[in-house]
Amino acid sequence: MREPEQLTLALPDESATRAFGGALARTLGAVAPSAFLLTLQGDLGAGKTTLARALLGALGVAGPVRSPTYTLLESYPIGGRVVHHLDWYRLGGAEDLEGLGFRELCTAGHWLIVEWPERIPAVAAGADLAIELRYEGVARRLTALGRTVAGRRVLAALSEDGA
Ligand code: ADP
Ligand code: MG
Repeated sequence: MREPEQLTLALPDESATRAFGGALARTLGAVAPSAFLLTLQGDLGAGKTTLARALLGALGVAGPVRSPTYTLLESYPIGGRVVHHLDWYRLGGAEDLEGLGFRELCTAGHWLIVEWPERIPAVAAGADLAIELRYEGVARRLTALGRTVAGRRVLAALSEDGA
């Protein structure tokens, strides 16, 4: 069977977004390789940070998940890997990534969750799984695109998980 390349989902409220974050954490834990890039695209208030918080919490981050809007990067060692939450809203350009040691983060043992990936299209293009959140009235619609074999494997596992 061919693995799905895309999944769309209605998220009627914030709790639906959080539930999806939990399901995504389970599937990443089960099938994602040791290096993985997840991008979260969407307008201000679309729910990127809400989703990232639920995902990080379900992956095992114990304390509060701070928004990386100003720090650009928050890193969490969990389960033998480091999960990095980045927000590029305030990023000027690719040169700002050098200061973050971004290249070293794109290696085995690191998972990346990036909000506003479109600030650096070259990096966004390398996403394993590209999630977009869109306003639909007061609700949201999520589209997840598997851009690599690993990303499509996560989508397949998500579908089996009931998402
Ligand atoms: P972003 O990081 O995309 O700017 P946030 O996650 O910080 O967005 O904020 C999303 C806001 O929208 C929160 O105030 C949340 O309560 C609200 N909201 C309403 N419906 C949803 C939904 N379906 N999913 C996520 N957030 C929602
Ligand atoms: Mg945000």
